[in-house]
Amino acid sequence: MKLIALPAFADNYIWLLHTDRHALVVDPGDSAPVLAWMQEHPGVELDAILVTHHHADHTGGLVALVAQTGARVLGPALEKIPVAWQGLQQGDHFDWHGLAFDTLEVPGHTLGHIAFWAQPAEQDPVLFCGDTLFSGGCGRLFEGTPAQMLDSLDRLAALPGNTRVCCAHEYTLSNLRFALTVEPDNTALQSHYLRCTRLREHDLPTLPVALQTERAINPFLRSRETAVAAAVRRQDPLAVDDVTTFAALRQWKNLFR
Ligand SMILES: [Zn+2]
Ligand SMILES: [Zn+2]
Repeated sequence: MKLIALPAFADNYIWLLHTDRHALVVDPGDSAPVLAWMQEHPGVELDAILVTHHHADHTGGLVALVAQTGARVLGPALEKIPVAWQGLQQGDHFDWHGLAFDTLEVPGHTLGHIAFWAQPAEQDPVLFCGDTLFSGGCGRLFEGTPAQMLDSLDRLAALPGNTRVCCAHEYTLSNLRFALTVEPDNTALQSHYLRCTRLREHDLPTLPVALQTERAINPFLRSRETAVAAAVRRQDPLAVDDVTTFAALRQWKNLFR
């Protein structure tokens, strides 16, 4: 089973998982990169599309792809997307050619946002987390509360450390610049920043990233760490517990340039 990131728009990735004969894509905001890939791989049939949330940069290609391929669409039960889809909720399972997917509800960025986790045979697991978890960051809170997002990220962070985190945007370098402002003495973060800088210099994706790396470098998974909580409190003295600290960290990032 192969995993590919198809770039779309300015900074989206449409993740594509395929065997010799079948492919699935995640969050096709644009049909063109997917159709171009299919044309280069005529023996591979696109037969499943996964959707994490309703935003147009994740759903804009659905109508064209379903019309051209007839692929089945699996997406959030609690949101509206532009084609007929099988609605999934927390704990729902489905099978794609022997690969078992788990669904997690991860509200915060949007209220019905879901994520998909699966472990291909003899490979590290994959997590398709849309706009919930980014490398070095997390999604903006458009619909949910800080408490919801913190709980969603806690549950993602509890997945196996070797999980390959497949985020929907290449936001890594700007996220890591903020992370270094929060935690300047974090050596894992410093070396990850250097590595990602080199990748971007060669126009390569910084993703997927191992979940264990995110636990070591992402301030939004580390808001209970002493150094992170203390840095947040210097910005906002009212950040006194887990949720107010997380909320103040997210607010700090919103204003960071
Ligand atoms: Zn979004
Ligand atoms: Zn997005």
